[in-house]
Amino acid sequence: MINYSEAFEIIKKEIQKFPLQTEEVDILESYNRILAEDVIADVDLPPFDNSAVDGYAIKYSERTEWKIIGEISAGNYSAFNLTENDAVLVTTGSKLPTNADTVIPIEDVDVNGNVLLLKQNSILKKGMNIRSQGNDLRKNEIAVHRFTKIDAKTIAVLASCGKEKVIVFSKLKVAILATGDELIQINEKPGGDKLRVSNIYSLYAALKEMNHTVINLGFTKDDKEIITQKVKAALEMDIDLLITTGGVSVGKYDFLKEVFKGQGVKEKFWKVNIKPGKPIYFGIYEKEKRKVLVFGLPGNPVSSLVNFYVFIKPAIEFLFKQDEMKNITATLQNDLKKKDGKRHFARGILFEENGEWKVTSEFSQSSGNLVEMSRANCLIEIEEERFNPKKGERVKCILI
Ligand code: AMP
Ligand code: MG
Repeated sequence: MINYSEAFEIIKKEIQKFPLQTEEVDILESYNRILAEDVIADVDLPPFDNSAVDGYAIKYSERTEWKIIGEISAGNYSAFNLTENDAVLVTTGSKLPTNADTVIPIEDVDVNGNVLLLKQNSILKKGMNIRSQGNDLRKNEIAVHRFTKIDAKTIAVLASCGKEKVIVFSKLKVAILATGDELIQINEKPGGDKLRVSNIYSLYAALKEMNHTVINLGFTKDDKEIITQKVKAALEMDIDLLITTGGVSVGKYDFLKEVFKGQGVKEKFWKVNIKPGKPIYFGIYEKEKRKVLVFGLPGNPVSSLVNFYVFIKPAIEFLFKQDEMKNITATLQNDLKKKDGKRHFARGILFEENGEWKVTSEFSQSSGNLVEMSRANCLIEIEEERFNPKKGERVKCILI
């Protein structure tokens, strides 16, 4: 059985060949999308020398008294040609009058009619309180780099560069399908041996969290014929990823692997030396330049979601170059049981105390316990060669 790192490398190798599409969207629709172009400043930023404070613009000299000759408020420029004698009232953001090289904050002066006096003990330094043209960025320089995730900070820069339309990478289209005879709709009450389908909801949300498009194919019985029809139809759709849950282990009614094979999906791996989520399947479907990454996840609600967090999410982040490290090393607050040579992803609660990251995992690690998973905020990653980590040891935590 392959290890986690080998499996992840295989996915990375495949996903990096993936042809990324782009599209143009309105700037307001670009939030949370990934920029597919280098955005160039079409003007200097800021576009003109301006005042950083409310105050008086002067031409610097040794003097401490000036004559106020007028005012310029932000957006209402009028021309003045300053001598060392003169001061012009300015507001924050005002374009500076000709010859002004310094702005004295309003708090540092006394005004008597049209006479301006520097208060005692106020410091006057040449060049102070000026935001000079192009100081933030020069025209024709790159303002926002390709592959930047657009957030409130970057959208402000795009707006300042006049980008009403932005080229972003198209969202991935991901079809999800759950399988299992025991599954019922969530508006039904489980009776007998049935349970409400939860995986399609968790995967739907996990993909939405990443801002991709989800095609929800619902769930189907463990019937090879029906699953074949569903998978066939899914692979014919214009999708990038197909994620199934359930039926990928070694049980009598675990048909997914066979079905994928029958539909021409090339298996890249099946089963990884991890816990939970060992039975994960990964394959590639290619047809007429179209390429679909196929993930068959186990049905256990915790396993499927852990698989998503440790394989699918980081692979998509890698594809869109969003894979800067988001992991945190923390001090374990309780002993953890780990007796085998698998890589474990234990559910944990990460918190900060006295400036130190700490993590507890004092709850059941059963891969069926969804509620406990929902209360966790991280996965504690324990490598293959590490056994029974003790309270006080440092562990790597993946935020979820
Ligand atoms: P399987 O991988 O098909 O062997 O399923 C493993 C376990 O996960 C079984 O206990 C199933 O009842 C449960 N399970 C499978 N699919 C789902 C689902 N979509 N939602 C909730 N539980 C599921
Ligand atoms: Mg099943």
